Amino acid sequence: MRPRQPRTMLTSLSLAAALALGALAGCTDSGPSTGAASSGPVPSLSAGASPSASGGVSASPSGDASSSSEPGSSPSASATPAPATDFKPTVPAGATTVWPDNSMVPHLFFHSLVVDPKTAFGLKNRGKAAGYLDYMVTVDEFNKVLQQVYDNGYVLVSPHQLGKVDAKGVMHPTPLKVPKGKKPLVFSIDDVSYYEYMEGEGFPTKLVVAPDGSVQNEYVAPGSTEKKIGAYDVMPLVDAFVKEHPDFAPFGHKGVIALTGYNGVLGYRSSPSMYGPGGDADHKNPNLQTDIAEATKVANALKASGWEFASHSWGHINFTKSSLGRIKTDTARWKKDVEPITGPTDLLIYPFGADISGLPKYAGPKYDFLKGAGYNFYFNVDGSTPQWGQWGKGYLREARINVDGISLKAALEGRKVLSHFFDPKSVLDPLRPRSISGTTS
Ligand SMILES: [Zn+2]
Repeated sequence: MRPRQPRTMLTSLSLAAALALGALAGCTDSGPSTGAASSGPVPSLSAGASPSASGGVSASPSGDASSSSEPGSSPSASATPAPATDFKPTVPAGATTVWPDNSMVPHLFFHSLVVDPKTAFGLKNRGKAAGYLDYMVTVDEFNKVLQQVYDNGYVLVSPHQLGKVDAKGVMHPTPLKVPKGKKPLVFSIDDVSYYEYMEGEGFPTKLVVAPDGSVQNEYVAPGSTEKKIGAYDVMPLVDAFVKEHPDFAPFGHKGVIALTGYNGVLGYRSSPSMYGPGGDADHKNPNLQTDIAEATKVANALKASGWEFASHSWGHINFTKSSLGRIKTDTARWKKDVEPITGPTDLLIYPFGADISGLPKYAGPKYDFLKGAGYNFYFNVDGSTPQWGQWGKGYLREARINVDGISLKAALEGRKVLSHFFDPKSVLDPLRPRSISGTTS
């Protein structure tokens, strides 16, 4: 592991975070009222706290901010239940080499994609538009990133290929055999909930299982009522790309989907703690059970096709600042609302990138609790270095790089991180304003 200076969490970034929080109208208190203060999310687009050797330029994201309502209910594209097939890993064809250090595997992450940039970036609510500019990329931008990452010799791997815990909970690296000449890369996508606040603003509305068994998006263009089914977000776009280029996912693994619970998951208002009888929301979802069943179908189909799930906390909480009590309450809610749909996971992706420790290895009550709750892999955010990782006795911790308006702008201003993976200038959507980002411009 390369020597690094102590991580300055939430220093310069906290300002960016505060700006972003403030930028989204009413986001500080428009989240679901969760009763107990210990469990309420403060949904917001926010800056990732991250740790960085260079003084912390990395900022990133998490789009959550809610204001509107309208529980999702609805028919999916198919009435045929997706088979809950277990994922079957594949073996790369041809010669392989063992990657020298599994803590040094780069990790790029995204949020749900902007399908209609004119609407999302042109919102009258300029603060909200700025948030979308900061934290999201468009379908067009993602497609170009995908092609270039592939052309540059990266192949998708799962964090679970990097290490394994033994019966005593001790983490050990596992040999990662990548196709000769290729470089491993982890993809993750945060906040795949199609939050209430995004409705009608140029994002997909949900994921569905199409009649052919593939996972697709439902998308309703702003001003339209027509429900289109197609590839409008990272998961179906990667699935389609891998179909054409199977060598991009030589093991069958595609990426990690990080889910919160407070607005349900995958576009379904599926959380009993929020929408069910006695839940926090006053607009309960009358189709709760159907939505849970539909979301489960989608989750099963995603898992079968190489996607994995991570906790992103139930309420998009800040693990750096939250008390142990709040972390416990929140974790219990995630396990109650999300785990029945996704199955258990040992991956924890910190909202805001807000980690429970800077550079020092994990120790103490928060870690003891999280490890006891089953988490073995932890992910913060650091957009200032191509890769960073840390082995602990019971865990592997990795930094992730945000691919969004903030990092694209930083790249065009000279930060050489994204250029390890793609040419930042060439991927910009012509419909992205010249400011590139929003609140940071
Ligand atoms: Zn997030």
